[in-house]
Amino acid sequence: MSTNSSAPTIREVSDYLRAIYPLRLAETWDNVGLLVGDDSAPAARIMTCLTVTPESADEALEEQVQLIVAHHPLPFHSFKRLTTELTPTRLLWQLAQAGIAVYSPHTAFDSAAEGINQLALERLNCAGIQPLLPKPGDPEGLGAGRAGDLPSPTSLGEFAARVKTIYDIPCVQFVGQADRVITRCGSACGSGGSFVSAAADSGCDVLLTGEASFHDCLEARARNLALVLVGHYASERFGVEQLAERIAQQFPAAVVWPSRRESDPLQTV
Ligand SMILES: [Zn+2]
Repeated sequence: MSTNSSAPTIREVSDYLRAIYPLRLAETWDNVGLLVGDDSAPAARIMTCLTVTPESADEALEEQVQLIVAHHPLPFHSFKRLTTELTPTRLLWQLAQAGIAVYSPHTAFDSAAEGINQLALERLNCAGIQPLLPKPGDPEGLGAGRAGDLPSPTSLGEFAARVKTIYDIPCVQFVGQADRVITRCGSACGSGGSFVSAAADSGCDVLLTGEASFHDCLEARARNLALVLVGHYASERFGVEQLAERIAQQFPAAVVWPSRRESDPLQTV
């Protein structure tokens, strides 16, 4: 197969990712951007994934990937030795030896104009979508989380069932009375416990998130905020699938796909 343009460099892909998911939107505790690699190297084969795991790293190695765009950062925590003793540094060692770069957009992706939380509410046909926690002074008025109005009032039970279908998952957990009518929905992909208060304050009836602790669930109930929990994996995996399509459209000379081997470690019976 021939292409009429050459493969992008890692720098060109990084520049594109920073343009669509500006790093100013990332949380201060986060570790985002190009985390591993030489940005002058080519990125002819690009894999997106939610997380660099032994499974997704093996796929990248076998498929001769040059750039992994992993939603979750690797490395995330600082380290003082790069050995194979612990999983994160073992994976880093393997990827670096194979010359595989890693870029992580993480919370910049969560909060961007076309980021995961925006997409989550668009999938539910919400209107008037706004950040749950606007970043003070942000030039585009962006920030973390999103809230919007559902197309029509619905019961929490019906809403949870609809979410289960849209996310194509075997079960959802929810907090709140199933027959309660909801109109305004918040979104906090991943672990959304820290958004309970903001969602309640901004008039949300329900917060859609991946996971929340028992105490966050109790706090939501105490604040009369319903929760719908789709699991951390499902709450973000669709975003990295869509990201692979965006990168492929932007760089037609590159081969781009979302990891085929990563999966939710949690199972249900
Ligand atoms: Zn996450």
